[in-house]
Amino acid sequence: MPQDAAESARIHDVVIVGAGFGGMYMLHRLRGLGLSAKVIEAGSGVGGTWYWNRYPGARCDVESMQYSFGFSDELQQAWRWSELFSGQPEILRYANFVADTFDLRRDITFNTRVQAASWDEATACWTVSTDSTAPVRAHHVIMATGCLSSSRMPDIAGRDTFKGRTFHTGQWPHQEIDFTDQVVGVIGTGSSAIQSIPVIAAQAKHVYVFQRTPNFSIPSRNAPIQAEYEAQWKRDYTRRRAEARKTRSGVLSPLNDKSALADSEADRRAHYEQRWKLGGTYFMQSYNDLALNKASNDTAVAFVHEKIRSIVQDPAIAEKLLPTNHPIGTKRICVDTHYYETFNRPNVTLVDLHDTPISQITPDGLDTSAQSYGLDAIIFATGFDAMTGTLLKIDIHGRNGATLRDSWAAGPHTYLGLMTAGMPNMFMITGPGSPSVLSNMIVSIEQHVDWIAECLAWMRSNRKSVIDADQAAQDAWVAHVNDVAHRTLYPQANSWYMGANIPGKPQVFMPYIGGVGVYREKCEAIAAAGYEGFVMTHATAAVQAAE
Ligand code: FAD
Ligand code: NAP
Repeated sequence: MPQDAAESARIHDVVIVGAGFGGMYMLHRLRGLGLSAKVIEAGSGVGGTWYWNRYPGARCDVESMQYSFGFSDELQQAWRWSELFSGQPEILRYANFVADTFDLRRDITFNTRVQAASWDEATACWTVSTDSTAPVRAHHVIMATGCLSSSRMPDIAGRDTFKGRTFHTGQWPHQEIDFTDQVVGVIGTGSSAIQSIPVIAAQAKHVYVFQRTPNFSIPSRNAPIQAEYEAQWKRDYTRRRAEARKTRSGVLSPLNDKSALADSEADRRAHYEQRWKLGGTYFMQSYNDLALNKASNDTAVAFVHEKIRSIVQDPAIAEKLLPTNHPIGTKRICVDTHYYETFNRPNVTLVDLHDTPISQITPDGLDTSAQSYGLDAIIFATGFDAMTGTLLKIDIHGRNGATLRDSWAAGPHTYLGLMTAGMPNMFMITGPGSPSVLSNMIVSIEQHVDWIAECLAWMRSNRKSVIDADQAAQDAWVAHVNDVAHRTLYPQANSWYMGANIPGKPQVFMPYIGGVGVYREKCEAIAAAGYEGFVMTHATAAVQAAE
């Protein structure tokens, strides 16, 4: 039989879409269960986020000792990080090290994009269609497609007329890009821009930063990892990982468990000062109510404003860099290396788009409503169609022909962020409705992968072949996700968490903000109760085919 025909006839136990950290670990777990799994990946290598986001300055904002897999002690002892917050090249090397260690590549088909998936009730099978292979069939599909994997290019008039080079931070070329002697425009001031601007400014002739909305950024205080620090972690890794899994964010961090309003003005300032010196996202742990109480949050905002004013020498530029339209932390807080200092360089100009928006891109550069800028290169640091964009690009048809696009028309509806009713045997890793992007994502990935693997093992031992989310359980979960979000300040920001960065996208708070530890307990309790809220059935044909 020709290879394509043989592949079409074969029914895998599982197809996994995506070979980032989620897909890689999922494959490893399924092999351990003796299940046949095939991974389909659009890129030419593993690593997902760290394969695509190769822009200068890209690095993690969760410490590397924690932003790494904890499922294998051998792995975590063997790998050595060079910096507290490692850069993209090193994280990509780590992803490849994981692939080598567990011999993952032999079950991954690279350079292949999944375009559609449809469920057949009679055979209890998904048929997965791609852009370059014969359709692949499997009893289960696991979407490890990532929350931040669909780059977003804004619709700016004339975008395609530009004669210079254009880049998106999320689809950066694999070869080194040299900006020496170039005039570069960066559109956007989110995390990707804030990381890349200082690095590009050190090389380019001139950088224009086109800012529509300023963001809060905290210095990372990145540094080489000291041997003793690494040794402390490695001696105590098992306990520390276990502790991190119980926390809100999946990160061991020093939470100051009191209200910002409980301290005097002087004590508060001293405490914020300490946190600023410590650096990184830990700043948001300065007090326990920064995400809950606007008055408390305002104190942190005032402190960071003061810091920006003290770093940026030109008071007019400093004022433009002050975020004022959202509480601190309600958009993903940025972590930087010398971002605000970069605006003291003579070769960096901040262009405030608030009053003078971009009107068009021209062959030679970019026009705002006030002025034309000649550019050699434009960098779109304009973010992602987060959490739902990648899944909705795939044409997914579930039970009775129902589509994921219809079922999510008013925003993503899931049970636990793991499944969507009407899409049997289709799991999502870190789907909307789970802590995902509000957490150390490797911790959340591991939790989902383990839960899915254990669920599949349970189904096999209990002779169940089809699992679906119960509609009523899903509705209750969606209501809970919303309810918890609205007890916080988060919905006050026009963030990508809310879908607000994509014109026409329904505005609902997508991740679950109840916390990683609480969420894990809920998932475990549901599994222990025989997968409460899921409906499991036994499809004879499917079981026979699998046996
Ligand atoms: P991804 O890494 O996004 O992998 C998904 C894979 O699926 C991709 O390789 C993609 O090509 C593939 N795919 C998608 N659709 C298809 C399709 N239709 N067909 C075939 N293949 C497909 N999180 C943190 O916790 N800490 C951090 O410090 C941090 N830093 C980040 C920095 C950047 C620049 C970005 C963009 C994100 C960052 N994140 C961070 C979030 C990061 O996405 C996760 O930590 C993690 O890497 C996600 O892994 P994943 O496997 O779930 O998804
Ligand atoms: P982002 O946070 O969504 O930022 C996009 C930026 O582009 C915003 O400043 C936005 O302005 C601007 N923008 C979009 N369209 C525009 C337009 N038409 N004109 C002018 N400006 C426009 O995207 P991101 O920086 O890529 O980050 C996304 C997420 O990835 C982060 O929040 C984080 O979770 C993750 N990430 C993490 C790190 C890290 O530190 N480890 C680094 C990079 C990314 P508005 O705000 O006005 O819309």
